[in-house]
Amino acid sequence: MSAPLQFMPRRTSKASLEEMAAITPILAQLRFSDDDIVRLLSVNTPGGLEALRQAAYDLTTAEVGNKVFYRGIVELSNICVLDCYYCGIRKSNRDIERYSLTKDEVIETALWCAEAGYGSCVLQSGERRDKRFVDFVEDCVRKIKTRSVSETLPQGLGITLSLGEQRLETYQRWHAAGATRYLLRIETTNRELFRKIHPEKQSIETRLQALDDLKSAGFQVGTGVMIGLPGQTLEDLAADIRFFEGRDIDMIGMGPYLMSQGGAMRTEGMLEKHKLMPLALKMIAVTRLVLRDVNIASTTALQALEHDGRERGISFGANVTMPNITPRAVRKNYQLYDNKPCTDEDTEDCRSCLEKRVVSAGREVGWNEWGDSRHFGRRQSGSI
Ligand code: SF4
Repeated sequence: MSAPLQFMPRRTSKASLEEMAAITPILAQLRFSDDDIVRLLSVNTPGGLEALRQAAYDLTTAEVGNKVFYRGIVELSNICVLDCYYCGIRKSNRDIERYSLTKDEVIETALWCAEAGYGSCVLQSGERRDKRFVDFVEDCVRKIKTRSVSETLPQGLGITLSLGEQRLETYQRWHAAGATRYLLRIETTNRELFRKIHPEKQSIETRLQALDDLKSAGFQVGTGVMIGLPGQTLEDLAADIRFFEGRDIDMIGMGPYLMSQGGAMRTEGMLEKHKLMPLALKMIAVTRLVLRDVNIASTTALQALEHDGRERGISFGANVTMPNITPRAVRKNYQLYDNKPCTDEDTEDCRSCLEKRVVSAGREVGWNEWGDSRHFGRRQSGSI
C-alpha cells in the first residue's frame, strides 16, 4: 500500500526531475556508502523528497508491516539531577514547578493504556539514580505488569523505560521486574557537539557504556539524536545513522531540535521550520533505508513543528507513535522544549485523534499489540 503523494506539485520542475534521476539508483541499493547517506539527506526538491519518502514508506511496509504501534507515555516526574543545556526541565531551571506522580497514579495511568488497547506504555522521567527512585520504578513496573494481564493482553502491557543513565544492576532489576525496552538517546555522536550541549561532567563515554549495559541486561535498546542542532552538519547526521547501524540498535526515537526557554541554548537559536521539518523527515527516511527492520518513532516534537508532523513521520518510515497520557494537571510542567503539543488534550480525545492521523498516513493501528522491534527478534535468534 502506498500513502498519498504529499510533496509532488502538479507540475514537476526540471530540478525535481533531475534530482529524482540522480537518487533513483541510490534508492535501489541495499547498502549505502557515507556519501550516499549524505546525498539522500541533502535532497532539496519536492520530487527528490517524494522519491525518498516513497522508498522509505515501501521498505517500512516490506520490513515491519503496515501497522503503527502505540506506546502511551507516562511522564512520572520532572525532577532531574542533570543539566542538559537544551532541556526545559534541567535541574538549573528554577522557573518550573517540580512534581512526582504517586505510585498509584503511575500504575493507574499506565493501566489506562491496557484498557484503551494501546498494548504498551513508556515510563519516562527526569534522571534520578537514588535508591528510593530505583525501588519506586521497580515496584511500578512489577505491578503494571501483573495488573495489566487480560485476555487481550495475556502477557500484560509491553513496558518501555526512558529513565536515563543508570547502573547495570539497576537495568537488570528493572528488566527482571518486567520492562523489556529502554530508550536512551545519544543526542549526537559528534563528540565536540555533545560537549557543547552538556555540562562537562556528563560525558559521552558514560552514555555509551549505559547503552552497552542495557544490551547486556537484555533490553531491546533504543537511541536517537536531535536533528538540526546549532553547528550540526549533514555529515554529523550521516555519522549518527552509521552509529545506530554499528551498535545494532533495535529502536530509534529522534526528533527536531526545538529551543526551550528553560534551556541554556537560547542565544544559539534554532533552524527555521521550513528547513527543520524536511530535515527531520529525511533523517527518518534514510534511517529506515539503512537500518531496515528497526522500530522508528514518529515523535511529538514533529507535531510541535507542524500540526500533521506525526503523520508525516509515519509517511516517511516511522512505525511507532507515543501519545502522552500523563495526567493533565502536571503535563504542562514536562516541557522539554517550547510549544510542546497535546499538553491539554484529554487522553480519550487523543486516542481518536491519533487513530485518524495514522489512517491518514495509509497505515492501521496495531491495537493490543506490543509491536516489538523485528530487529531485536532477529538479533536474539542469531539470524543477523
Ligand atoms: S534531557 Fe533528560 S537528563 Fe537531560 S536535563 Fe532533561 S530530563 Fe534531565
